[in-house]
Amino acid sequence: MTDWSRLTNRLAQRQQQQLMRQRNTLETAQSAKIICNGEKLLNFCSNDYLGLANHPKVVAALQQAAEKYGVGSGASHLVNGHSTLHHQLEEALAEFTGRQRALLFSTGYMANVGVISALVEKGDLVLQDKLNHASLIDGGLLSGARFTRYLHNDVASLTKKLQQHQAGQQLIVTDGVFSMDGDIAPLTEIAALAKQHNAWLMVDDAHGIGCLGPNGEGAVAEAGLSTDDVPILVGTFGKALGTAGAFVAGDEVLIESLIQFARPYIYTTAMPPAIAAATLASLKLVQTESWRREKLQQNISQFRSGASQLGLQLMESTTAIQPIVVGDAEAALKLSQQLKSQGVMVTAIRPPTVPAGTARLRITLSASHSEQQVNQLLESLEQACKQFKATSSQLN
Ligand SMILES: *Cc1c(COP(=O)(O)O)cnc(C)c1O
Repeated sequence: MTDWSRLTNRLAQRQQQQLMRQRNTLETAQSAKIICNGEKLLNFCSNDYLGLANHPKVVAALQQAAEKYGVGSGASHLVNGHSTLHHQLEEALAEFTGRQRALLFSTGYMANVGVISALVEKGDLVLQDKLNHASLIDGGLLSGARFTRYLHNDVASLTKKLQQHQAGQQLIVTDGVFSMDGDIAPLTEIAALAKQHNAWLMVDDAHGIGCLGPNGEGAVAEAGLSTDDVPILVGTFGKALGTAGAFVAGDEVLIESLIQFARPYIYTTAMPPAIAAATLASLKLVQTESWRREKLQQNISQFRSGASQLGLQLMESTTAIQPIVVGDAEAALKLSQQLKSQGVMVTAIRPPTVPAGTARLRITLSASHSEQQVNQLLESLEQACKQFKATSSQLN
């Protein structure tokens, strides 16, 4: 018999800390109304911010491409898996982001790990915001470069770190929009600082692409910054674009270097070409249907004003991510369960995804929510908080 005792111990510990994670089974497409684990629920936890994951044009593009190109790409990009559709999408993304070139990756996780580990090595320094996405942290660790984290969105803390360590190439890495807090990085200040120190700057805009900027180009465009200010831009397709995969955009030298040196680009099968076709279709919708961004903003405002009337403590977020920090992991879980019993799905996010003592309900809004659905969320939150207070006072 295999001795799994170290694993069973870890699992038992996680259970004890109320940090055990469980998967829910979604039985419908991702949309405002879903069926999950057999229950009909209003969905306030997906990253489908513009309601494109199940858009008929995106679905049709995927179907048509599958008819012509099949399903699997059959090879990596550098062998013969790089199809016309991948190439078209790269060109469209370069134009969309106003950069010389773009390069596709199969996932955002792989893009982040690939970029950081290709660009820096032992003797260099990676500087990351404390709240950066796990994939950025992992890329930094894998690269072998020295690794330091500055205080969240704190330009003074970053400045200090830049001055402290001056050896080798410095690479500053930040989320554009922070995935668990919803706030936006001070990109203008960080870009100026990067220039001043000759450091490279990489922005992972997984949650900004599609939602921010004049035509959905993201947080970098919203801040009015160019390739010169932010030379390395990462975006993903699994969120506002409603498909799957990711891209890196930048100048010729950057992209050619990634093709040559980014191992998660080289040693993996190219994404299915039909996914590239679907992403081209959703990119077009992002660019042409600005009403989706406007509707999303309306829903965000409606939620924020309603929630503050209820006395809920909101975070400094103007984006689709509107967390309510509860603190205790068990309490966050209870609130999430109470919301579910009222037909509203909001997941509790607990450590280690967020720092200890900051467990939260991660509410996400989408352009696909109606005004009435946002009201329903607010009513359910009010009820859940009442119930929660009643039961916790009984316990005490
Ligand atoms: C979701 C996310 C990723 C990972 O992207 P995938 O395509 O889902 O692998 C990377 N960075 C951030 C900030 C994210 O939120």
